[in-house]
Amino acid sequence: MNKLIYLDNAATTRLKSEVFDVMKPYFCEKYGNPSSIYSFADDSKAAVDKARNQIADLIGAKDNEIYFTAGGSESDNWALKATAEAYKSKGNHIITTKIEHHAILHTCQWLERQGYEVTYLDVDENGLVKLDELKKAIKPTTILISIMAANNEIGTVEPLAQIGKIAKENKILFHTDAVQAFGHININVDEMNIDMLSASGHKIHGPKGVGIMYIRKGVKIGSFVHGGAQERKRRAGTHNVPSIVGMGQAAQIAKENLEEYTKNVSKLRDHLIERIENEIPYSKLNGDRKNRLPNNVNFCFRFIEGESMLILLDNKGICGSSGSACTSGSLDPSHVLLAIGLPHEIAHGSLRLTLSDETTLEEVDYTVDELKKIISRLRSMSPLYEDFIAKEA
Ligand SMILES: *Cc1c(COP(=O)(O)O)cnc(C)c1O
Repeated sequence: MNKLIYLDNAATTRLKSEVFDVMKPYFCEKYGNPSSIYSFADDSKAAVDKARNQIADLIGAKDNEIYFTAGGSESDNWALKATAEAYKSKGNHIITTKIEHHAILHTCQWLERQGYEVTYLDVDENGLVKLDELKKAIKPTTILISIMAANNEIGTVEPLAQIGKIAKENKILFHTDAVQAFGHININVDEMNIDMLSASGHKIHGPKGVGIMYIRKGVKIGSFVHGGAQERKRRAGTHNVPSIVGMGQAAQIAKENLEEYTKNVSKLRDHLIERIENEIPYSKLNGDRKNRLPNNVNFCFRFIEGESMLILLDNKGICGSSGSACTSGSLDPSHVLLAIGLPHEIAHGSLRLTLSDETTLEEVDYTVDELKKIISRLRSMSPLYEDFIAKEA
């Protein structure tokens, strides 16, 4: 196979051409600033309003509860920092989990340096939050629960409705980093009692550098980026109209395709999982089998270094990712794999393959065929593996 096989859709996705088409006019023709008065800007303003509606529609929100940002990381920072600031007279305690994205974890660490107290909940061996531990962690000073909707590494989908119920019963705000879940699984902010939600354009075949925060009416958090009066004075900065339009269109397509996406992509996912489990010995699936994103596959292979596997896959035109050493720029393996209880040496041998509705069965099969060869080759060079096999025999 000569073409690129892109199996890293959790890192970013290909912009769909239907999305690009609706963005195009907003670069060189309809370039007016939506905040301007003259009628030339009306098209831009209407386009931003339409995108807001398309996005609200996907999560069961009202249009005026959607705020455009420059991406998932900004929305996460905004939710945590602005809630901490706005509710500090009520308390200084925040609850999150050990498996959050760094946009949440590093923001929490920053808040700790500002005097806030953060509880990082453990998860079970599949990456699921333990609801009884969440309940136990709540204090009179708790102002926010921030728990991701679905994990970006292992694909585990958290019990959002139950978390939302606990938050509501205790009158605590509930924020969810839904960057991986938005447009990939069903989310309804009312049914799940979600008060704030972060999402990003480029994880749903939309453009990079645009995201949203959903803020339920009545949540009193202030502005994060100060300046002009855009976004009902809550997020300054001239609207990134082409990207906003693109994210709106991507959200609409995701909504229309959700059922088919779930069916087709999870079938491919299960095929990929089944083949690896049947054909590659000493492999272990990470993440929950049932409560899992339709497009996520994550395995650990014993006696393998994730980085070497990625390089050899790349030589075959296959893009994957690993929670191992070099990719993350540190010597520690992924915090998520450690949190689900994997020992260091096993966590180092992880491989994440994330599919999209553009992935084909042929690509998946080719990937497994190549992966099998790569793993045998790497193991044949491993003295640890040799010793292990000698002992097994
Ligand atoms: C990608 C991602 C983010 C960051 O979103 P950006 O738009 O890239 O800033 C945050 N959280 C999760 C779970 C993600 O997967």
